[in-house]
Amino acid sequence: MSGRDKACGTERGVRVSDHRPVELILRSTRVITPEGTRAASVAVAGGRIAAVLAHDAEVPAGAVLQDFGDDVLLPGLVDTHVHVNDPGRTEWEGFWTATRAAAAGGITTLVDMPLNSLPPTTTVAHLRTKQEVARTKAHVDVGFWGGALPDNVEDLRPLHDAGVFGFKAFLSPSGVDEFPELDQDGLARSLAEIAGFGGLLIVHAEDPHHLAAAPQRGGRKYADFLASRPRDAEDTAIGNLLAQARRADARVHVLHLSSSDALPLIADARRDGVRVSVETCPHYLTLTAEEVPDGASEFKCCPPIREAANQDLLWRALADGTIDCVVTDHSPSTADLKTDDFATAWGGISGLQLSLSAVWTEAGRRGHSLEDVVRWMSSNTARLVGLDDRKGAIAPGLDADFAVLAPDEAFTVDPAALQHRNRVTAYAGRTLYGVVKSTWLRGERIAADGDFAAPAGRLLTRRG
Ligand SMILES: [Zn+2]
Repeated sequence: MSGRDKACGTERGVRVSDHRPVELILRSTRVITPEGTRAASVAVAGGRIAAVLAHDAEVPAGAVLQDFGDDVLLPGLVDTHVHVNDPGRTEWEGFWTATRAAAAGGITTLVDMPLNSLPPTTTVAHLRTKQEVARTKAHVDVGFWGGALPDNVEDLRPLHDAGVFGFKAFLSPSGVDEFPELDQDGLARSLAEIAGFGGLLIVHAEDPHHLAAAPQRGGRKYADFLASRPRDAEDTAIGNLLAQARRADARVHVLHLSSSDALPLIADARRDGVRVSVETCPHYLTLTAEEVPDGASEFKCCPPIREAANQDLLWRALADGTIDCVVTDHSPSTADLKTDDFATAWGGISGLQLSLSAVWTEAGRRGHSLEDVVRWMSSNTARLVGLDDRKGAIAPGLDADFAVLAPDEAFTVDPAALQHRNRVTAYAGRTLYGVVKSTWLRGERIAADGDFAAPAGRLLTRRG
């Protein structure tokens, strides 16, 4: 047996059909695999993981060894909720800057939301426009969500066939005029169409009637903003969505869950066979309403960051599996739109580069493992969009996408070190654990120590 054959071997009983020569061995005493964390050497051939070998495995002739010592080798994160805003609002964010921030933060795949760019991703022609813009700027792999609007039901199947990973809908105003929300009839029509071709609807679930009935005081006080986006707006919208999903036998996903009161509804529906998955975000898990300074609209997002007691229940739901994944909902704007009036400031938190460290800092404090974090931020998000045969785990046959993390190393968040376009962040000045030392995409190092390789990200499409 040659060295090459040995490295492409079957230590874990999985044979790799593509016997290209091994080009790279990534070695660490802590490699996070689907079976747990262990000392291992990961062999990479043709940009894919060829095998997970013993730590002291022989390095094949011609292969390069990268030994990370005790730093953790984990699968690159898959962030399925990012607003890149390019083209059209590139002064807010663009593919070049967003994907650099992603790479700096250990994220190797992102899926772009269909709104805030101009055009929004609501027709195949618009999707093509976005793909052309992203093609030469992507430092990480990029996929796209489509949008479900009141008047584009006939565009949904063509978008699905063109490779979007699913469709986003709002049930309350989205914040931009070109992306109107669905009422309950519109939701039923879109769900019926999407269920017809086995697609996925992902939903911003806040009920417009409950929002309209809530006190809208405006101004600098965070407590007033929180009162304007009450939990029952989320709970009601999620209840309606679950009922409609059940009726249409459709697959749905609840975006950025903030209200812990909705968790029993979701758990009950799932027990009854409704196909629903749920995400929450780093800011709901690490920041609390009690600590948001008045006027600090870098903390504004919708639904809002809620109280510490609510946050505890979100963590419990992650632990018991009611919440499947953690995604950033990175949604920046220019700094001037982040005024000190919570009613009129742009709503959106920029967390792409910091998400792994922020979540790990709080997860560790609460007794969760890095394996849990990888499940929430990589494996389960890859599965959500059907990329789990390519992404989201260190296993033979998958893309050689990795983050190298020093989990016990701390740093203080300095906005100047962030790569996203407008360096506004709710995390400024915080001490976080977990320094991303390097990020790898298909076996190439794309980010390390503030340096970046030329963009080599690919455009991803859903596989039918
Ligand atoms: Zn969003």
